[in-house]
Amino acid sequence: MGRIVRALSEDGGVLCSAINSTDMVREMARLHEASPVVTAALGRMTTAASIMGGMLKYEGDTLTLRINGGGPCGTLTAVADYRGNVKCCVGNAGACVPQKPDGSLDVAGVIGSDGTLTVVKDMGLKEPYCGQIPLTSGNIADDITAYYAESEQLPTVVSLGIIFDEGAQIEAAGGFMVQVVPPISEKSIMVLEENIKNMDSINEMLERRLTPDEIALNALSGLGGDVLDAWKARYYCDCSRERTRGILMALGKKEIEKLAGEQKETEVCCHFCNKKYVFSADELLKMLKE
Ligand SMILES: [Zn+2]
Repeated sequence: MGRIVRALSEDGGVLCSAINSTDMVREMARLHEASPVVTAALGRMTTAASIMGGMLKYEGDTLTLRINGGGPCGTLTAVADYRGNVKCCVGNAGACVPQKPDGSLDVAGVIGSDGTLTVVKDMGLKEPYCGQIPLTSGNIADDITAYYAESEQLPTVVSLGIIFDEGAQIEAAGGFMVQVVPPISEKSIMVLEENIKNMDSINEMLERRLTPDEIALNALSGLGGDVLDAWKARYYCDCSRERTRGILMALGKKEIEKLAGEQKETEVCCHFCNKKYVFSADELLKMLKE
């Protein structure tokens, strides 16, 4: 289980959400069998979407974070509910790119930087809210920071980390997001900028095994921050046989008849968890009559 912590400054003007997403990212990596660099990219997506989803207000609200940078891994998608439970998928989980000269994984290289970041918030209204910006860095954290500044006019700092052990297994993953909420106080922004400058990198904090509580309170240092709430979140796919039937039905009568005529069994694989659903030709034809 992951753990999300939210802390608020004394004047209520600065909110920090921090997460230990180690278990969620490990489960993501197990399901997707991704290459190390795609694991790093999807791990950041998982962590970010979980934090962003956890900021939704109501049960049933969902947030989709999508990055399409034109790179070898294709489109990355992460969907989170209002408690930060998250699922994600990627076009090509096995994609590889050369490491950077310093030996680190080239996340921006596998994602590409010629494309867009899209955030869709479905809050049960007639139309979901949709914001989109052009990618600037492809490292995910900076692009989300730019999204909040441009699309939602909220000064935000996002930091996402994932560290691997010597056997290329995930040792820890986590991140934090600090947001200045209106009415925006210049003084808070100044203290916050100083804090961010002086804080260790997220990977260093993960290596030192800092808890999300400690990370959040570090970010709010000097602002009288206190933990507001904390809860558990996990990697969770809500697919089902029933839902998969719905997707098949949406293909239309002609397409279903074609599938039933061409093959004895039709297999549908969930992109988010790789679970396979098999429908016999008879079942498909029966579905049409219902
Ligand atoms: Zn699934």
